[in-house]
Amino acid sequence: MGADGADEILVGGVWRRGSGAEFASRSPLDGTVIARLHGADAADVDEAVRAGAAAAADPAWRDLPPHERARYLVRIADGIAGAAERLAALQTRDTGKSINETRALVASAQATFRYFAAALETMEDGLTPPRGPYLTMSVHEPIGVVGAITPWNSPIASDAQKIAPALAAGNAVVLKPAEWTPLVALALGRVIEEAGLPAGLLSVLPGPGGVTGDAIVRHPGVGKVSFTGGTATGRAIGAVAAEKIMPVSLELGGKSPTIVFPDADLERTIAGLLFGVFSSSGQSCVAGSRLFVHSAVYRRVVDELVARAGALRVGPGADPATQVAPLVTHAHRDRVAGMVERARGEGARVLCGGRAPEGAAFAAGAYYLPTVLEGLPNGSATCQEEIFGPVLAVLPFEDEDDLIAQANDSVYGLACGIWTRDYRRAWRVARRIDAGTVWINTYKQFSISTPFGGMKASGIGREKGREGILAYARQKSVYWDLAEAPLPWAS
Ligand code: NAD
Repeated sequence: MGADGADEILVGGVWRRGSGAEFASRSPLDGTVIARLHGADAADVDEAVRAGAAAAADPAWRDLPPHERARYLVRIADGIAGAAERLAALQTRDTGKSINETRALVASAQATFRYFAAALETMEDGLTPPRGPYLTMSVHEPIGVVGAITPWNSPIASDAQKIAPALAAGNAVVLKPAEWTPLVALALGRVIEEAGLPAGLLSVLPGPGGVTGDAIVRHPGVGKVSFTGGTATGRAIGAVAAEKIMPVSLELGGKSPTIVFPDADLERTIAGLLFGVFSSSGQSCVAGSRLFVHSAVYRRVVDELVARAGALRVGPGADPATQVAPLVTHAHRDRVAGMVERARGEGARVLCGGRAPEGAAFAAGAYYLPTVLEGLPNGSATCQEEIFGPVLAVLPFEDEDDLIAQANDSVYGLACGIWTRDYRRAWRVARRIDAGTVWINTYKQFSISTPFGGMKASGIGREKGREGILAYARQKSVYWDLAEAPLPWAS
């Protein structure tokens, strides 16, 4: 719903009802409908892309110097700051996430716009060493219209991570938020409009992935797609991109290993393990969901972990004391429960959780208890597939080489955590693990100035960092003649 409660989406600078089918966004607390929306259909996508292309080509935007483009990003950051509490509360309502987490996500979105404004002011095109009588240079130009497709698990932060660098690079953006959580993206659209961004540069098009998302990816006017979501979807988008010969960046799933060596500081380790897998109720691409513990400390670590997992505060997202909020939808909760049932079938021992919490307070919500499983080999489906819920599989190990082989025996390569006091071992293992991000004696920490992305089936491309702007630019080389005489061949 728009700010006024109307069923409106942002199509090429105009707030109006989408032409696609109606869908509902439901509360994870009790399944009630929070908003009904008409999604964008292919005609809406076409309208948004055409308006985006026109706005990006308009000299008012095309010829704006970078430092003036940066001012829009700063104004957007200020707008997010001004609306922070409202945006966080809206996101908690729509996703079920704890209010502490959604406040952090809103703060991250704000910081992302500020960071890319600053980065944009310092971007430089380069002169290259000339190897003849000419000036040679390498310059970056906007792509035109960028498609940004985001998942439901941290909406406003992932939306900002695509919109900010894409606008910084001088593009227009067509954003498609996930159908389960469209509201905060629409609210962000309002904030960006109020910041004065020229109309048409941003469209926000909720709708089903197979309709709205697919139309964005296939549209000939879209010159790049930046996608965050599941690996199967990313693979399908990558196939269309290959047909179009279109650049694509894919931030996909993970099954990230965390590794505990016997010399680890166990108090810090347990705190990091719990946060790494159970915060966001496990609905995190980087969740440390495969835990390898050295056999010398295995029982101690697992017993302590289980005791503390059982004491985590499960409750509604709006309660600031809540650590484990409901999952995003009842259907997703049921899917997670089904994967734990499959783990039981594979022979897993359920050390804690393995069910929804009992009691009237939890009856209507999409809750699931923090769950620790042991007794499964790394090759089991439970240890290989992303569950995307509060479920941890623990495995003992003895030998470092065997550990690395097991940790890397996964189609994914998103993140890894290493817990040890031995700095040489930390370095050695960090360099041998297939992961886009490695945390040493910490976990799930992020910085907008540090690139993020996956290896193997966890994705292609990197977001964040100063280079993040260049991911939304086309590179061009220019040779500029300085010779006194014409080219000799035809003379
Ligand atoms: P998803 O792949 O189902 O959906 C993601 C987005 O893609 C949604 O907006 C969806 O509508 C859209 N989509 C679906 N089918 C499409 C199609 N054919 N064409 C175009 N768009 C389409 O993922 P999800 O369930 O929303 O999110 C969870 C997944 O996202 C997990 O696998 C998680 O690991 C991953 N994720 C990755 C990162 C990362 O940075 N690596 C971050 C967050 C989430």
